[in-house]
Amino acid sequence: MSKTRVRFAPSPTGPLHMGGVRTALYNYLFAKQHGGDFILRIEDTDSNRFVPGAEEYIIESLRWCGIFPDEGVTPDGKVVETASPEHPHAPYRQSQRRSIYRQYAEQLVASGHAYYAFDSAEELEKVRTEAESKGQTFIYNHLTRGSLRNSLTLPPAEVERLLAERTDWTVRFLMPEGRVVEMDDLIRGHISVDTATLDDKVLWKRADELPTYHLANIVDDHLMEITEVIRGEEWLPSLPLHYLLYEAFGWQDSQPRFAHLPLLLKPVGNGKLSKRDGDKLGFPVFPLRWTSPAGETSRGYREDGYFPEAFVNLLAMLGWNPGTEQEIFSLAELVEAFSLDKVGKAGAKFNPDKAKWFNREYLRMKSDAELAALWLPLLKEKGVDAAPTFVESVVALIKERATFVQDFWDIASYLFVAPTEYVQKDVDKFYKPEVFAMALEAMEASDADTLEAYVREHEMPMGKVMNCIRLALSGAASGLAIHDIMRFIGRDESLARLRRMQQKLG
Ligand code: GLU
Repeated sequence: MSKTRVRFAPSPTGPLHMGGVRTALYNYLFAKQHGGDFILRIEDTDSNRFVPGAEEYIIESLRWCGIFPDEGVTPDGKVVETASPEHPHAPYRQSQRRSIYRQYAEQLVASGHAYYAFDSAEELEKVRTEAESKGQTFIYNHLTRGSLRNSLTLPPAEVERLLAERTDWTVRFLMPEGRVVEMDDLIRGHISVDTATLDDKVLWKRADELPTYHLANIVDDHLMEITEVIRGEEWLPSLPLHYLLYEAFGWQDSQPRFAHLPLLLKPVGNGKLSKRDGDKLGFPVFPLRWTSPAGETSRGYREDGYFPEAFVNLLAMLGWNPGTEQEIFSLAELVEAFSLDKVGKAGAKFNPDKAKWFNREYLRMKSDAELAALWLPLLKEKGVDAAPTFVESVVALIKERATFVQDFWDIASYLFVAPTEYVQKDVDKFYKPEVFAMALEAMEASDADTLEAYVREHEMPMGKVMNCIRLALSGAASGLAIHDIMRFIGRDESLARLRRMQQKLG
């Protein structure tokens, strides 16, 4: 059996959606499980949709997720342009493979599987509007091709002349009539499609001397010896054409197997998960923050504070299930456990709360030292210069309360800096002269370990006094235990904070 070779073939038309990352992940898992290769190919033949920075974004996203391709990209993240033993199929950017495709388009014309079409954009527009005026939709297919300007209808000499003189002709696939294409999908099983429902797709364009997606995709999957095509459900309608292209080229025997992954669905309602859902409900749909060429910024999982392992884990579970109760999987465990036959056909509903749950689980699995190392630079940004061991013990105290490392500051900033503001409703409730006097007395007479006993022994109202102290120490009547706060900031600082509150609130 030939070595497993799968590819992720994004078009650099913008930031990679999390659904795209999931496609890459499933390809990666499949490749690694079978001891095969995971290849990156950039499908950029549609120059109108090219977005600068998108290619770099895709590569950086894969790197962040730890699912870096074996072939197609250099270790420093450049798409490979020149062939080498490690990257034998370079270039991996379709726009740089231009010279390869024309001969394949010509081959299909020569073998009668494709034809030249000379209809100008204006002519096609005209037939389109005519059809619309009759309440119909124009389709270039077996019903219409006979009355259009192409090499099936024009005399050979005229075809030769137009090929030489015009620069706007295309090569179209001659969709066979009266056939049922029988296909197999590793997730969806057997599928049959009647060719009467399919159109004569453009395969190659003289105008930019570039193939369309369909031709480039089939030719490259063939040349790159791809064994399985694992991609999103949106490509399922193209599958019959792809089958017929393999057949037309005579490549059926080495044709890859196909798997079309279920869609990622909105958290509420129906339909595909979109950036708008993320904006509305407050979660990212992109792996990394993205700033469009127009300057519009979209949030990313990385910048929102997700660990890449958590992101990978939550993506893996969107459409695949291990068949057990286990939910937490490392990448290595996913490689072990993954299988396409446990990928569902139905769309996978995205649940933003569950996404957070995954991050919380990973946060808890990390050691205090690891988390402290991640938090230290953020503390520096806040102007806090704390000893790593101190930060580590703060982490130990608060990690159960956090979802992201960024949450640490909100939970425990007052262990590093004194509060400068006090929550008004807590002030109204607990900052009373007689209570404050008792709080100050208790604090002056005790330390972290004896404070509570002092309050009790002197028959002070426990709840009121303690909340008043907590307000002074943390700026609010809720949060960490007073004993813990005092342990970190010391009795002197605690006392100073009580006095500062008095100064501030009068
Ligand atoms: N370029 C296509 C995309 O952007 C690839 C589809 C496929 O994998 O065949 O998704």
